[in-house]
Formats: sequence, C-alpha cells, structure tokens
Amino acid sequence: MSHKVTLIQGDGVGPEITKCVEKIINASGAKIDWEICEAGAEVFKKGLATGVPKETIDSISRNKVALKGPLETPIGFGEKSANVTLRKLFETYGNIRPVKEFPGVITPYSGRGIDLVIVRESVEDVYAGIEHMQTSGTGQCLKLITRQGCERIVRLAFEFARAQGRKKVHCATKANIMKMTEGLLKRTFEEIATEYPEFETGHIVVDNCAHQLVKKPEQFDVLVMTNMNGDVLSDLSSALVGGLGFAPGVNYGDDVLIFEAVHGSAPKYAGKDVINPTAMLLSGVMMLRFLGEYDAADRIEESLFYTLSQGKVIPRDVVGDEKGCKTSAFQNAIIENMGKKSDSWEKRSYTELNRDVMKTLKAPLVGIEKEIGLDIFIESSLDIHEFGIQVEKIAQSCGFELKVIACRGSQVYPSVGTIPQLVPHLQCRFLKNGDMNNDDVTHLLSKLAPHKWMHIEKLKTFDGKNGFSKFQGEA
Ligand code: NAP
Repeated sequence: MSHKVTLIQGDGVGPEITKCVEKIINASGAKIDWEICEAGAEVFKKGLATGVPKETIDSISRNKVALKGPLETPIGFGEKSANVTLRKLFETYGNIRPVKEFPGVITPYSGRGIDLVIVRESVEDVYAGIEHMQTSGTGQCLKLITRQGCERIVRLAFEFARAQGRKKVHCATKANIMKMTEGLLKRTFEEIATEYPEFETGHIVVDNCAHQLVKKPEQFDVLVMTNMNGDVLSDLSSALVGGLGFAPGVNYGDDVLIFEAVHGSAPKYAGKDVINPTAMLLSGVMMLRFLGEYDAADRIEESLFYTLSQGKVIPRDVVGDEKGCKTSAFQNAIIENMGKKSDSWEKRSYTELNRDVMKTLKAPLVGIEKEIGLDIFIESSLDIHEFGIQVEKIAQSCGFELKVIACRGSQVYPSVGTIPQLVPHLQCRFLKNGDMNNDDVTHLLSKLAPHKWMHIEKLKTFDGKNGFSKFQGEA
C-alpha cells in the first residue's frame, strides 16, 4: 500500500534537502505518493499574507502527514511565520525532537551513547504571544498553561516512550518558582505517571536539567517540557551530537503530523549542494515509522550510520569545508550503502503509537471555586506610603481590605523593611470581607478611577486552596 504525503520543499536549502530525502526514501522500498505543495517565501511574495495557500492546507488536511522543508519568514512580506501558521492551523501541540549520537561525528560526548528525546509542548506557554505594554515602560507576556495542554503532552511523551520501547520519562519544569503554570505540568505529570508503571519517572528542575544535559546527557531517555524550556533545551541537546545538521523532529497533532528538521532555511548555503541533509532525512525516517514502514526506516538509518562510520563521505559541518562532501554525494552514498550495517547501529523495537489516548483526555480537575478578592495593577508614581494610605481608604469604603501592594512581585506596602527599586507599576491585592460578586468589583474599580489602573486579576480559591501565588515578602 502506498502512503500519500504532502511534501513542502521550503525555502533556502529546503528544495535540495527535501529532494535528497525524497530520493533516499524512494530507494528504501517505502511506497510514498508525494504530493508537492507550496508554502513560505515564494507564497508571501505572491501577496498571500499567511504564506500557506489553500491547496497546501487542503492537501495536509487530506493526507494527514506532511514532510516539510524549512520556511523562511521574509522581512517585509507577511506578518506571521508560515511555520507558526501551520502549527496553529493543525494544532500540532507536540514537538518531538530526538537527539542521538552518530558514528563518525566526533564531539566531546562521543562514545557516551546519547540517545534521548525531548517532547516539547508547542502551542501554549509564552509562545502564544499574548503580549501587552501595560504602561509605557512595562511589557507583559502571558504564560498560559492549561490542564488539557499538560495532559496531552504528558500522555504523548509516555505513549511515544512506550512505542519506542524506552525506559525512562522525566519532566523538567520551573515549578519551584512558577507554581501555577510550570507547577501544573509537574502535578499533571506526577498524576499521569502512575498510569505508566513500567517507566522509571521523575521530575527535575529545568535549570538543573540544562546542567545535567551538559554534564551527563546519557542519563536521560525521554524528557517532557513546556514550550519555551523545550525550545531552548532541544537546541542545546542537538549541539551535543553534532548540531543542527543532525536534529530531526515532528510537529505532532491529533489529526496531522508535520515532519521537519529543527533547523531553518540556512540561506547562505542555498543551491550550493553543501548542506547536511541528515536532520531532514531523520525527520523522514521518523515519518516512515509513524506510517508503519519500520523496515524501510531501519534500512535508511542503518545505511546512514554505515556511511558516517566509514568516514569517506562526510558532510562539511562535521569535517569542515575542505574535507566536507557534497549533499548529492552524501545522498548517493546512502543509497548505495543500503543493506550495509554499522556496528554502532542498534535495532530498536518500534510499535505503533496509540494516538487515541491523546484524544480522550480525562475531565479537567474540578474543584469548588470561590472568588475572594482581586489584584488591581495601577500605574502610579506617588510616594508609596501616601499611595498606600489612599488606596487603603478606598478599599475600606468598598468592603475590601488592602492586603498588600507589590512592585514586580515584591511587597512594598506595608513596608517589610527592604526597599526594592520602585517602578510606576504596582500590584494592589484586595481581599473581600465576605462573599464577592461582580458589583463589588465594579464598585471598587469605579472608586479607584482617579488612579490609572490597567489590569485586574480575580483571586480565587479552588477547594479552599489559593489559586494565586503570594508576593515576595507577603505573609
Ligand atoms: P538556520 O537556517 O537554522 O541556520 C543557522 C546556522 O545553522 C547555519 O548558518 C549553519 O551554521 C547551521 N545549519 C543549519 N542547518 C544546517 C544543516 N542542515 N547542516 C549544517 N549546518 C546547518 O537559522 P537562521 O539562519 O537563523 O534562519 C534562516 C531562516 O530560517 C529564517 O528566515 C528563519 O525564520 C527560518 N527558520 C525556519 C525554521 C523552520 O522552518 N522550522 C526554523 C528555524 C528558522 P554555520 O553557519 O555555522 O555553518
């Protein structure tokens, strides 16, 4: 049976690496019916602001699987990146990035057997891009993390680990500081881990994870993270095994999978036949495994390992410009070496990923929700003591207590003795005496109108537990 796959050649080096991968996959025996589609720079130039034409969207919707070359975001054409558009359109929430040591690619880590996978959430977190200038001198970016988003990325990490016969799954977060957002991923991970008892599991603070990845990367197997942490640590990890030329990936959605190298269009190498196609090729190998073409995937990977281990035809990012081979020579060597094995290649027993699990998430945690007050963000340059007394009086007249005023998250009123540098951006925390309703909120806001408030956030408890963090210094 042949598989229909949408092939987007992409920009810069995209056409040469996708053609190379197409040839190698065709030579592997896998039956792929490629549907060539456009996206990226040329589409922007034609005046389509999304960079992704309807025919491409229709093709991906039909085929459910795409292999995509890198897409450039041209300055001056179109507002948004076509990559982000594709990710959002098809809700590809999981970015899976394997990092594996290769023979013949000598790095300070060679011989340590690095073979890990970073599973990065990729539609939430600060990358949702919800940003505001709250005052002329204070910008805000919302870090939105949902229970649903955490559950599906954690399940994806475990199901991917299971399909690949892996042994360990770790979750790296900054939950020690961001308890409501990063903490939500940690709590969800710890809850769901109990459903996967065959794995060794654990949580690691993300900064220590960065340190451990550099110090002893071979200790990790599968790592799951929020969007920004995963973005940074997956690039770091790819450098451990030779860099971007060796970093494949897939953008995973419940309906659509878009396979692509981690790297961009590397425009300075475009058309020169010198770029390393390995990252794109391994993205194609991942695709073959998702399609159930395990033998063809193994054949390509074996040949790649054999070719690299022989050291005769090696890409320029490994051995430098003078000794480096042409992209086409590397491609031909891999095709010629198909069927040959390298001792450094180990067969892994892959099974089909159970995709239904991510589609049937548990109901979100439901608790008894109660509104108990609100934080109102105010722009003020008044003396903090004078400002505090004024706001305290307003609060009392509306049935609220002014609990604390903070500046950039640290208590500044009532004074706790220390004096953090004040900027005209203050968070005033009001607690309601008794039950709070929306009329109480609008009453308080109308009384605060002489002050320049720009943002409010309700304070809630869930099953009696605070759904908000305390300010530094707050009792
Ligand atoms: P880039 O294209 O990834 O290239 C940065 C550098 O990484 C290259 O100059 C090269 O380093 C190295 N490199 C990248 N791919 C390589 C490969 N296959 N083999 C060997 N070395 C490789 O990043 P960029 O220059 O920042 O971005 C260029 C364009 O790509 C931008 O328009 C950006 O928006 C876009 N982009 C697209 C994607 C995507 O489609 N998913 C991802 C990232 C960026 P040396 O110079 O040291 O040789």
